[in-house]
Amino acid sequence: MEKKKPARRDFIKRSAMALGGIAIAPMTGMAHKTAKSNAADKKLHIVCLGAHPGDPEFGCGGTMAKYSDAGHQVTFLYLTRGEASDPKVTYEAMAAARTKEAETACKILNATPQFAGQIDGNTELNKTQNEKIGKMLLALNPDIVFAQWPVDGHPDHQVTGMLALTAWVKSARAFHLYFYEVNTGVETMGFVPTDYVDITALRERKKAAMFAHKTQDPINTYNDYFKPLEEFRGLEAGVKAAEAFIHFKTEQVRATIVGL
Ligand SMILES: [Zn+2]
Repeated sequence: MEKKKPARRDFIKRSAMALGGIAIAPMTGMAHKTAKSNAADKKLHIVCLGAHPGDPEFGCGGTMAKYSDAGHQVTFLYLTRGEASDPKVTYEAMAAARTKEAETACKILNATPQFAGQIDGNTELNKTQNEKIGKMLLALNPDIVFAQWPVDGHPDHQVTGMLALTAWVKSARAFHLYFYEVNTGVETMGFVPTDYVDITALRERKKAAMFAHKTQDPINTYNDYFKPLEEFRGLEAGVKAAEAFIHFKTEQVRATIVGL
């Protein structure tokens, strides 16, 4: 697939990094193991970690589609299969249904689904899981990992964000780490974006991926939460619809005030 130069408004950034599947600038001062993410024209592997089927799609489906359209490899690593989402349905049946929904959504976004084997509503953050998920992530050799922001009302989302953060630290920051938001104000909290991706042209495709999660009341979830969120982040970024991220860079000098 031909790679395109990013349109000026494709990615509105406040940091020194470029995203949007087009170019990744060198990570100044970071113990970055690989040089591949410094090459603007190199194929990247993007891994999006989510607690449940649907989290990556709702949180950053537009950005992931943008990456895959640009010729990059995208993997969704779901921590669980969402097996606890309906008390009237057995875990086994719900896991089967939600796995199928995730597979359908991934096809729409041209992503590859993987499942990490934890249990919905009972995810674990401990030494064993830190090692297991860290190994799974590194085995994928990601250039960039997107994960849920850990300050969230849902315990599974907290666990997901912290597992990613721990893997990033333990790997000597071998990949770029971005956090994404879901249901901000209800689930994600304290989210102050550093970067925005214009998803205006990808809204319908993202919507189709979200609506593939038929067991999750996608129409109301979209209308009540994600449609206004895309538009709110779009207003902040000066475009019609955007997804917002926190680029986690502990070493970066954050003072960007002119004159300091
Ligand atoms: Zn979730």
